[in-house]
Amino acid sequence: MRYHVLTLFPEMILQGLHTSIIGRAVQRGVISIEAVNIRDHADNAYGKVDDYPYGGGAGMVMQAEPVFRAYEAVAARLPKKPRVLHMTPQGRVFTQQMAAEFAQEEDLIFLCGHYEGIDERVLEEIVTDHVSIGDYVLTGGELPAMVMIDAISRLIPGALNNQESAQYDSFQDGLLEYPQYSRPQEWRGRQVPDILLSGHHANVEKWRHEQSLLRTQQRRPDLLK
Ligand code: SAM
Repeated sequence: MRYHVLTLFPEMILQGLHTSIIGRAVQRGVISIEAVNIRDHADNAYGKVDDYPYGGGAGMVMQAEPVFRAYEAVAARLPKKPRVLHMTPQGRVFTQQMAAEFAQEEDLIFLCGHYEGIDERVLEEIVTDHVSIGDYVLTGGELPAMVMIDAISRLIPGALNNQESAQYDSFQDGLLEYPQYSRPQEWRGRQVPDILLSGHHANVEKWRHEQSLLRTQQRRPDLLK
């Protein structure tokens, strides 16, 4: 998977995604992450890429042309027309299912807005998916892009040391994951459930499934509907 992030703050993307598991996936060549500075595609010498909104109102709007040029610079190098995900609170709320769907792509372009957002005309021209990370408003699309890149990358074969672990994560089968325990067996008077020490694989699986159901019912009953 090759990610291409169109942003006014490339250092945020590069600093945020080059550590830990995602950083190792980059080093191993399982994924690559390119941050394209929209400002480098400004049509003026000052690198100015925003202007006042027509019709008045607070804030600034990112102009269409620099965004389009940044998009074109990336798209021209790709073997086929890529999916372009616009980070916006007005989009479809991102889910594990969407992460799995996006993980099938070879290239993904993430378009990060700032200020009041991006001129609608360039969005109409290049965006294939409007995606949100939740019903709240952030200052920019960089954190949402990083959240999505992290979630998508975990599902790409070779990204995790133990790919099996992603199979049992919350949401993979529509349920929350069962509780996890590690050593010591007793911690401040709290014991690890006996069943996990029994060595009986089938019983452990049964217990975990029951716990998943119980936990989902208690914490996210909406998922069971
Ligand atoms: N004026 C816009 C509106 O009301 O819909 C909000 C603009 S927001 C302050 C600036 C940028 O942050 C957006 O263009 C988008 O890229 C990003 N952003 C903010 N909240 C987001 C969310 N929940 N999900 C994805 N992107 C978000």
